[in-house]
Amino acid sequence: MPAQLTIAGAAGGVTGSCYHLAFDGTAIVIDCGTFQGGREADALNHRSFPFDPARVDALFLTHGHLDHAGRVPLLVAQGFTGPVHGTPATLEIGSMIMEDTVKIAAHAEGPPLYDAAALGATRERLRPLRGYRAPITVGAFTVEAFDAGHILGSSHLRVSWRDGGAERALLFSGDIGVCGTPIIRDPTLAWDPALAVDYVITESTYGDRTHPDRGAAKATFREAVARAIGDGGKVLIPAFAIGRTQEILYELEGLIGSGALPVVPVVIDGPLSATATQLYARYRGLYDEEALAALARDDHPLELDSLTVGRDGRAAAKISDRDGPAIIIAGSGMCNGGRIRGHLARHLPDPRTDVLLVGYQGARTLGRALEDGAHEVWIDGRSIPVRGRVTRLSGYSAHADRDGLAAWFGAVPRRGAATAIVTHGEDEARASYAALLGDRFGAPTIVPALDQTIALP
Ligand SMILES: [Zn+2]
Repeated sequence: MPAQLTIAGAAGGVTGSCYHLAFDGTAIVIDCGTFQGGREADALNHRSFPFDPARVDALFLTHGHLDHAGRVPLLVAQGFTGPVHGTPATLEIGSMIMEDTVKIAAHAEGPPLYDAAALGATRERLRPLRGYRAPITVGAFTVEAFDAGHILGSSHLRVSWRDGGAERALLFSGDIGVCGTPIIRDPTLAWDPALAVDYVITESTYGDRTHPDRGAAKATFREAVARAIGDGGKVLIPAFAIGRTQEILYELEGLIGSGALPVVPVVIDGPLSATATQLYARYRGLYDEEALAALARDDHPLELDSLTVGRDGRAAAKISDRDGPAIIIAGSGMCNGGRIRGHLARHLPDPRTDVLLVGYQGARTLGRALEDGAHEVWIDGRSIPVRGRVTRLSGYSAHADRDGLAAWFGAVPRRGAATAIVTHGEDEARASYAALLGDRFGAPTIVPALDQTIALP
């Protein structure tokens, strides 16, 4: 029987990534992420896996984000006893995220997805890869990680096996980053032709959209921050704890260090953001050339002199309460939770306040209300007038756009007309990107449904 791939998440949406691959008595799972977005997602998270967790030999993670690693303890609680592999940074970030899930569940209504015991059992299963390009073998499969340029430690995973003497291989894209993202290296675009694959499972988050150029985004960011601190008010930047927060900090550091911006207090507020920033500061081996050059000049990325990293919120509250300009970066990225809400409640009524939205703001979130120009918002049961200015900055996405995705696909060494399996996108984005892959590369495409099993002959 040929290898069988089951799509157990991220089909017709961007969350809940999970793939089951079986061949010749071996079964592995790639990613085990949480579905996000309301009741429907909760139901998907609580349903049973479309495979038997007890019969999975190993789990591999492409990266540590919630939507790729958040349900690992559930797999363990349901009988999985194999190793959990990922790059060292991926496993650290993944553990942080799982721990955060347990903490949030303790304060939420409804049954938790898993408890601290499942988290503890999961920690015992973590087996870091030696790094990128260090293949390991699990039964019939050999798995090798390549830099995906999305967040620290993120990977594309190439999986190969021998079927009737011939090598068969597929490449899981994971989330594909944007070239030129600060600190981390670019997605892999140079491949050894010997690593050709027969199937490419690719994300398609922005398969129907293009982003503005990174350089232009940086210039707009500088102007917005300069204008914002010019009037002595607070600059509030809601940002995802892992990746975006560190990128923004790195940009600010460059701008303050070069004198393009005056020295003002910069605050990172929140336990997850604080831990992730320390992690980014520690994994220097994963830096790109620019960040390494800064290190060589003794110019330590992510260690700005005017920076306060607030784990418990007190230091950040002090600066937030003091009159005068300050830049406050806090989660959540869409303002639907986290410390940013307290800062917004305090400063939105002040006309000197600026809110810079650097990320995607989902429907029905506080961030989207601000983006849409609300004059009044509700924060934790209180009506808050919005007198500050809200600016939307595009170009800071952690996902490649349509052109970036196509450039990445074009660089993958493919055996014959390798099939593209298009996942991790809303249906419109998936369809649009699949059409592009067919037109430009002549690639046969599959746009799978949730729980669909695909034979890989
Ligand atoms: Zn991600």
